[in-house]
Amino acid sequence: MKFFSISAFHTFILSATHYRVGLLLPGASAQAQAQYLRQGREYAAGVDNSFRLLLREGIIDAIPTSICESLRKPAAPQGKNVILVVGDGMGWEMIRAGAIAKKVIDELVALGVDIKKGATGDKATTAKAQFAGRTLDDYYKSGKGSGLSFQELEGFNVITTSTPLIGDATPGNHYGAARSMLGDVEGHDNGMAPLLKDKKGKPLVFDPRDIFKGGNMVLWDDAKGGAYPWDENYFKVADGNQTSKHFDPEFILQHAIDSANSASAYSTGVKSSVNMMGVDLYENPVRTILEEALSCDKSGGVVTSVPILHATPGAFITHTNNRRNKHHLQDGFREVQPTFAMGTCAGIYQPSKELKQSMIDGGLKSSHSFLFQNAAVLAEDFYDSIQDKDPDDGHHVLACFGGEYSGNTKLENMPFRGLDSSYSGRWCSQGSVVKDEDDLPIGVTPTTPPQLCDHWPQNELQNIPHMKENVVEALKFLGKDNNGFFMMFEQGDIDWAAHANSMDDLLGAMLDIDDSVSEIMKWIKDNGGYEKNALYVTADHDHYLTLLPHFPQVIANLIIDGLSHNITPKNNSNVNTWDTAIKAGRHNDNSKKSQTEHLKDFATWSDADIQNVAHFFGPPGSGGNGWGSHSTRPIVMHHQGDDGCLDALVGKGYRVLGQEVKGSTGKVDQVHVHACMMRQLFNL
Ligand SMILES: [Zn+2]
Repeated sequence: MKFFSISAFHTFILSATHYRVGLLLPGASAQAQAQYLRQGREYAAGVDNSFRLLLREGIIDAIPTSICESLRKPAAPQGKNVILVVGDGMGWEMIRAGAIAKKVIDELVALGVDIKKGATGDKATTAKAQFAGRTLDDYYKSGKGSGLSFQELEGFNVITTSTPLIGDATPGNHYGAARSMLGDVEGHDNGMAPLLKDKKGKPLVFDPRDIFKGGNMVLWDDAKGGAYPWDENYFKVADGNQTSKHFDPEFILQHAIDSANSASAYSTGVKSSVNMMGVDLYENPVRTILEEALSCDKSGGVVTSVPILHATPGAFITHTNNRRNKHHLQDGFREVQPTFAMGTCAGIYQPSKELKQSMIDGGLKSSHSFLFQNAAVLAEDFYDSIQDKDPDDGHHVLACFGGEYSGNTKLENMPFRGLDSSYSGRWCSQGSVVKDEDDLPIGVTPTTPPQLCDHWPQNELQNIPHMKENVVEALKFLGKDNNGFFMMFEQGDIDWAAHANSMDDLLGAMLDIDDSVSEIMKWIKDNGGYEKNALYVTADHDHYLTLLPHFPQVIANLIIDGLSHNITPKNNSNVNTWDTAIKAGRHNDNSKKSQTEHLKDFATWSDADIQNVAHFFGPPGSGGNGWGSHSTRPIVMHHQGDDGCLDALVGKGYRVLGQEVKGSTGKVDQVHVHACMMRQLFNL
């Protein structure tokens, strides 16, 4: 792959006359003025919204005059409950790894093998014989697949995760740039910067074309990246075979989306850039689907295995140009007040101290239940106090784990259970960067401690409900709302495990999301089915994982031997290869060396490690743990209760700042998902 740079913009100071000018209605009431001002800010000139998208594409006949319209007409059919499940970083190959692991576990359990301890003697011999020669061919090699709860849902689509890219690419083209139409998002609050200008000194106009054609969109290319995430070229390269002419295994390594702007596309239907959430490309706040639900007297909830105001849940609650802007995050939570919020409460990614205190002994005491991890409360009693609470009485629930509520460890994600579901013993992968005499990184040495270590202290696990139990409690509470609800549940640590190249943690997180969706599907069955509920299970972006043909046999043998933690090699380093390579200036290297070869210099798995675990991260040949970052490869969506909305939008384009962006053949985009969720939630 050749490295390219997009021509730099010259940014001059512009006295910012802004979108707010000229919006007020003469003679209107203060309330109408405020409403108009808000609408104006949300849908500034040229900005599209999901209502207009649905109308344009013929999904709806007319836009209702009010979003709450159907609720105000008791005789009209009500919208559905909408449940969005996001496996953060859960690409198609992660789903396949989880599905195979689940099937292998079920089969081993039937053979009497103890998943946590393994088996010995005849039992082990019989089990190993049953899995001898078992390959990916015995499971599935394309499409929807089976093995996990959500793969039983009827609907299936492929989704593009295109991010806008304003101005220069990042060093090494690693992620899309964290830059709005006002420049770098770091260092100022929403809207508090002049507009970017083009070379002629005019305010920059968004160009909806692909970046390779001089535009501002990172669009998907079927020829270079494959028409589907299971494109056979990825496996041909892994086998050392010839690929089709235009296929480039390094194509997906450039300009990835991050979880903030990705989730924001789901929550608002509006595209923003990396690090931005709940705002448009001009940093104007855009109302999220959760806020729309609350405004129509429905409930809105977020459940996550990572911090409550981390990117994915944060994008449904807050409005910020920068996901690390603490006061935007905390102000957002205070202003929106989701009906139910559960996750870890760590660092800046949690409601403020003052707000939590107010739920304990202040003004919010009677209307809010603040539950938190506490050595005196067992997991099974954790939600006892909210059993008779009801959102129709204006009640809210906030549940905090980890962070300041967990001993000395300040853990930021819920306990990883691992492939053996023991919540104990895993390789705590570590590595140290090796530098040359000029202080430039030249390699990485794994320094993983020789003993397995626990993710969470064992004594705290008794105080932590499993993820599926948190999901069940959220559904129980939100489901009491007579007007229905929107809920977003995120298994956020699939992404964290993939960043760390840890298959053990990743498979445990996949088992978690599988269990939780299984509970959601049960709840839907008992509460009106898909006539009354719509369920969407998807990801926010892919990483770069490839399974080798003997993956199923490897999983089975490691479990039988009681060595399942070795599915993550001990040589894993938890040092990001491309970050390190960029620090070494490799992205500016003019030699003939490919990006894959540069990555390999900083990867730490041996060839034997790759064979022993039957998978690798990164482009083939990059060394096993040769990536550890997001990619642009499209993701998949399993769904039911969507009533044909997504299917009708396959291949369609969408608008960014009023400009038409081309759709990708055979796929929908994330903004289409928002439109379809809105349609179901409000019976549009
Ligand atoms: Zn990530």
